[in-house]
Amino acid sequence: MELPRPLSHSSMYLFNECPRKYKFKYVDRIPEKPRHFFSFGSSVHAALEFFYGVKSLPAPSLEQLLAAYKEHWISAGYKDPAQEQQYFEDGKQILISFHQKHVRDFALPYFVEYSFNFSVEGVPVTGKVDRIDKLEDGTLSIVDYKTGKALAKGRVQTDGQLTMYQLACEQLLGAKVSRLAFYHLPSLTQQAVERHDDGLVDGLKRRITATAEAIVSEKFDPTPDESKCRWCDYKPICPVFKHQFSSRQQELVLARAEPEPDEDVSALVDRLGELQEKSEELRSELEGAKKGLAELLERKGYSRAFGKRFEVLKSTARRWEFSDKKKVLEILTKAGLYEKVLAPSAPKVEQLMSDPGLDAAVRERLGELASKIETAELKLKPL
Ligand code: SF4
Repeated sequence: MELPRPLSHSSMYLFNECPRKYKFKYVDRIPEKPRHFFSFGSSVHAALEFFYGVKSLPAPSLEQLLAAYKEHWISAGYKDPAQEQQYFEDGKQILISFHQKHVRDFALPYFVEYSFNFSVEGVPVTGKVDRIDKLEDGTLSIVDYKTGKALAKGRVQTDGQLTMYQLACEQLLGAKVSRLAFYHLPSLTQQAVERHDDGLVDGLKRRITATAEAIVSEKFDPTPDESKCRWCDYKPICPVFKHQFSSRQQELVLARAEPEPDEDVSALVDRLGELQEKSEELRSELEGAKKGLAELLERKGYSRAFGKRFEVLKSTARRWEFSDKKKVLEILTKAGLYEKVLAPSAPKVEQLMSDPGLDAAVRERLGELASKIETAELKLKPL
């Protein structure tokens, strides 16, 4: 068989944990049940993606960061609303402390949530790096955020996920990685090391090729182990344990399988995803090139410069940032200038109309003035 999808750090981890579990998830396409700790981690990551994803200084305010957190909160997998609320508050506290600690040293990263696809000895490999910074000497620093338990001491020195990120970034971005770090968010502490040596990189490459070979040779024997099997969603259909389950319980697991992809649709979905990835890469590259050129022009004292096909003019754009927006509103209202500066915008009015607290009569009157335009929206995410 072919590889069902490019290898990633997590799919390799899963194969290593139990090859049969890998088969259930990636070959038979039966998803695992949502887990609250994954939802929590993704929600906090999304807030930090927003925080470091701004295109220019200053850093987003705490209010903006918390609004992004709320907006990207994922509810799946919590056992009840009380547990979800507790996690939501924990995440909020983490972000408040993170903002307090880093708003002053905030710098625009080189990449945020950098998605990569490359190949190792012909094996396709994919992944996403939380944050990449370009250091003054032109080398790269890779940061991976963790939201779970405290990290084992020394893990950063040999961790295969970081080795994979280093390999990918050096191949795709053409710059040397000089620093690898895990950032444990609940304790706001980092473990950082210099780049992983060639021995670790070679070891990772061997693991990638060996895992790919085992998958294409369909070596999916189960490797039962009390600690792993206890939480395994596939237990009712696993050859080792299925005799302990009823056929109804087995059917329920099998029913979660995703349908086989429709060839025509799947080709277009992948094409769209690839184009989006390329455009994100280009956008980040464009921002990086703009920043680099602006710094160079500043250093050399040029306000105009020429290439072979283009010329560039440098000017200074200035804009105001107001930290206390309430106070600004107050001053404008008192001075009778409120309406002069705040014209209603369609997205703001739309947001207001979907606010459950809006008076029904006002909503109706606004609705009479509007015409509803419906367009298809597609939200892509990597598999
Ligand atoms: S129950 Fe255990 S042996 Fe069976 S698939 Fe899950 S992890 Fe593997």
